[in-house]
Amino acid sequence: MIEVQNLRKEYGGFVAVEGSSFSVDRGEVFGVIGPNGAGKTTTLKTLAGLIEPTAGTAVVADRPAGHPEMQRTLGFLPEESPLYEEMTAHSYLEFFADLYDVPGDVASERIAEALDRLDLEHRDRRIGNMSKGMKRKVAIARALVNDPEVLIFDEPASGLDPLTTNYIIDFTRELSDEGKTIIFSAHNLFHVESICDRVVIMNEGEIVARGTLEEIRDAHGGTEYHVYAT
Ligand code: ATP
Repeated sequence: MIEVQNLRKEYGGFVAVEGSSFSVDRGEVFGVIGPNGAGKTTTLKTLAGLIEPTAGTAVVADRPAGHPEMQRTLGFLPEESPLYEEMTAHSYLEFFADLYDVPGDVASERIAEALDRLDLEHRDRRIGNMSKGMKRKVAIARALVNDPEVLIFDEPASGLDPLTTNYIIDFTRELSDEGKTIIFSAHNLFHVESICDRVVIMNEGEIVARGTLEEIRDAHGGTEYHVYAT
C-alpha cells in the first residue's frame, strides 16, 4: 500500500532523510519511531505529497506521492494541526468535507459518526476554546472526512495526557481493525508498541532498525529497542 525507495531529502545542504526504504502492507499499522530531528516528519510529509523528495520515490495506493488522486485516498494528521479557532468542530469538519467534495448527506453522517466515536461532546464549542486533547481529536476527525484508505498520523499523541493518549491509541487500533492502512510516527515505542505490526527506527535521517518488535529486540540485542522504548 505504501512503497518508499531510497528516499532522500535535503534542506539546503542539510540531509534530513538519507536512503530510506520501506513498504507498508494493506491493513498494516506501521510505526516510524525516532528522537527529535530523526526525519520522521520529513518522511511522512513526503508520503502525504506535501514535500518533494530530493531523490528516491514514494508510492501510496499505487500512485506517486502528491498525485491528486492519491490525495483522495489519504488522511493526514500533521504534528501541528492548523485548526480554525473561530469555527466549531462541526462546521470545521463540514468545511473539509466540502473541500473533498463529499456529498452533503454522506458528509453529515460521516461527521456525526466521527464526532461520536471520538467522544467529542462539545461539537458546538469554538475550537479556540477546546483543550489540546479535544483539538487533536478534531484534527483526527478531519483526517477521516474523506473516508481514506491510508492514514498518516504524525505524532498523534505527542504532548497529550495519558488518558487522551490511550484513547487515541485505542482509536487507531479500531481504525486498523476496520481495514485502514496506518503509518504513524512517535518518539518512542512506549504505548505505541501495542498497536504496531512493524516499525522502522530512524536516527539522524537514517533507518537504524526495522521489523517487528520481536525482530528488533532479537537483532539488536535490545539496544535500539531499549533506547526507544523508554
Ligand atoms: P521531531 O520529532 O522533532 O518532529 P522529526 O523526526 O520529525 O523530528 P524532521 O522534522 O523530519 O524530524 O526533521 C529532520 C531534520 O531536518 C531536523 O534536523 C530538522 O531541523 C531539519 N528540517 C526539517 N524541516 C526543515 C526545513 N524546512 N528546513 C531546514 N531544515 C529542516
